[in-house]
Amino acid sequence: MAGMMATNSCWDLLRRQIYAILIMGTMNFVNEVAAVPGGENVYSCIQCGVCSGTCPVAVEMEYPPRKIIALIRAGMRAEVLSSSSMWHCLSCYLCTVRCPRGIKPTELAHALESLADKEGYRVRGTRTPAMYHSFVDSMRSNGRVHELGMMLKYYLRTNPLAALKVSKVALSLFLHKRMPLLPKKVKGKEDLSRMIQRFREVGGSQ
Ligand code: SF4
Ligand code: SF4
Repeated sequence: MAGMMATNSCWDLLRRQIYAILIMGTMNFVNEVAAVPGGENVYSCIQCGVCSGTCPVAVEMEYPPRKIIALIRAGMRAEVLSSSSMWHCLSCYLCTVRCPRGIKPTELAHALESLADKEGYRVRGTRTPAMYHSFVDSMRSNGRVHELGMMLKYYLRTNPLAALKVSKVALSLFLHKRMPLLPKKVKGKEDLSRMIQRFREVGGSQ
């Protein structure tokens, strides 16, 4: 009898510890999101769905804005950060101006992009992160975008064979002097590069 009671109390202790770990994990993610600019009001969401109903690209998203907030509050960190939802955001701010609780789903989407990128999550179903990285690399190297270099990097990061499909357009742009082979570097590009570096240090994407 005494042995059975001891076994029960061990199970109780284990169950409480597992529960505490799960709750802590949930709270950590919500708190982390609430601490980034744009995520402050995540606790105030009433799940009314106005943001999702307003969003012009909600159908493209794996989880529309309302659902992303529900997942954040449920502590589903990996599910949120590896989803493509935030990468589809057009920054049109419709959800932000219509939210009855003052939440800013637009800012939240960008905060999640930054977090996913910093933590190296592989995002499902979108190549937008590769485009962002290629764009920023080009800006850092030249002080402005060099379209040919940017697109070469993008295709190398995603699918090099897909570059063949756009080669005719690229050749036409080149022949009409609309796409130079070599980049033109702007004056003061080092200053821009330092700004990007500083942005990364204070919490921006890689
Ligand atoms: S509109 Fe605002 S309160 Fe309603 S679900 Fe979206 S974020 Fe939450
Ligand atoms: S800002 Fe982004 S999430 Fe909000 S409605 Fe526009 S596209 Fe949708």
